[in-house]
Amino acid sequence: MTQDTSVFATDDKEVASFMQGLVRRNPFEPEFHQAVFEVASSIVPFIRDHPQYRDAGILDRMTEPDRIIIFRVVWDDDQGNVRTNRAWRVQFNNSLGPYKGGMRFHPSVTQSVLKFLGFEQVLKNSLTGLPMGGGKGGSNFNPKGKSDREVMRFCQSLMVELHRHIGEDVDVPAGDIGVGAREISYMFGHYKRLENRFAGIMTGKGLQFGGSLVRTEATGYGCVYFCQHMLEQIDTSFKGKSVAVSGSGNVATYAVQKATELGGKVVTLSDSGGFIHDPDGIDEEKLAYIIDLKTVQRGRISEYVDKYSKASFHADQRPWGVPCDIALPCATQNEINVAEANTLLKNNVIAVCEGANMPTEADAVHAFLNAGVPFGPGKAANAGGVAVSGLEQSQNALRLSWSREEVDGRLKTIMTDIHGRCAEYGTRADGSIDYVAGANIAGFVKVADAMVAYGLV
Ligand code: NDP
Repeated sequence: MTQDTSVFATDDKEVASFMQGLVRRNPFEPEFHQAVFEVASSIVPFIRDHPQYRDAGILDRMTEPDRIIIFRVVWDDDQGNVRTNRAWRVQFNNSLGPYKGGMRFHPSVTQSVLKFLGFEQVLKNSLTGLPMGGGKGGSNFNPKGKSDREVMRFCQSLMVELHRHIGEDVDVPAGDIGVGAREISYMFGHYKRLENRFAGIMTGKGLQFGGSLVRTEATGYGCVYFCQHMLEQIDTSFKGKSVAVSGSGNVATYAVQKATELGGKVVTLSDSGGFIHDPDGIDEEKLAYIIDLKTVQRGRISEYVDKYSKASFHADQRPWGVPCDIALPCATQNEINVAEANTLLKNNVIAVCEGANMPTEADAVHAFLNAGVPFGPGKAANAGGVAVSGLEQSQNALRLSWSREEVDGRLKTIMTDIHGRCAEYGTRADGSIDYVAGANIAGFVKVADAMVAYGLV
């Protein structure tokens, strides 16, 4: 069976031939192809100048996961119906440390989505400078509309299989879309029961049982800290800027909080039903309402306009038509296409920084790069979440809890260091930074060097 590889527009014959092989070996995995293409476009030219990586076949090896565990999850709903879902854990690469990466519960989850996320996670975790390999997992289970008891039964059933494959020195899952404090608690509680041991086998745990301060806020805060550095490079800051944010989950809400704290005015948020536009800005009080609406009441963003009448709701649309200085896509993959990128550019956006994983389609990324607009790719900009997960692992191993200031301080330093690594490998002749190439190469080199050192494993 053949697949169209012409979507990967490149003049580089080596990249084209590599992608042909990858698509042939991994049919019907478009998200995985997209993520690898984006990385290969920077890495293949780099490997041409560093033949030790080609001789060791690193790119072929790095795009093949160590293993994928696929399993059935059976549970019963509140009406007594038997329900069956599929779950995966993609253990992608443990060259730098135990596998680390979130679990996603969403009906759109497929093996392709988890392979793309796992692959990105390997490079992202490398960028943090912490000893973490990369993995990802999840299920096509939809927590939306389920009772707490249904979610609990699902999480417990999932852990009956997953517990065999994880451990503090093996694989340490965390949250992602659809997996927040409630789901982590159910899974962690069941692991403890099955194994009769209390260990840091998951991150994002409650503060009462081994969680870290600032973990909840870390991805959104980290994204804004990274964006702050991007803005400093062009001699500006968040102060007085209008900011468009998509999503209204964990990453989006804390990105709003930090951007507002730094003087920005956030004018949009969204969910899968559409987006809200609040020209007055989403201040602290409005944000508290949204966090309660989405995490406690499990409501929809459309309800915001019932409370704040100056705002408008736009069903089934994304926020990128609203004029803004800074765009922070924080919902999900492929939520900015090239037409939307051109609209943002037409409205004079000055920086785009990804809180979500791969929210920007490949040709939209090129539109930003070609226009010379600083573009922070997710693997660098949203690494703050996994970085604080790494700090949670350290605290668990030390049996200590650090203060909010300590963790936030370390997060800031890590985001500064990631920015520095991107600059090291991505600075162009004119002094501007290609963060895409910089993040890909900096993340790659550490993993590749470890793999070369290990020999053929
Ligand atoms: P949440 O589940 O907390 O929130 C996800 C948000 O995105 C919700 O507003 C959701 O809307 C929206 N969304 C989900 N799917 C779609 C879709 N298909 N179309 C439009 N909107 C959608 O997840 P997180 O905030 O944790 O994750 C958001 C992104 O950030 C993901 O790409 C994730 O991989 C990435 N990320 C998360 C990290 C973390 O620490 N949590 C770390 C690094 C990256 P609705 O309520 O309608 O579903």
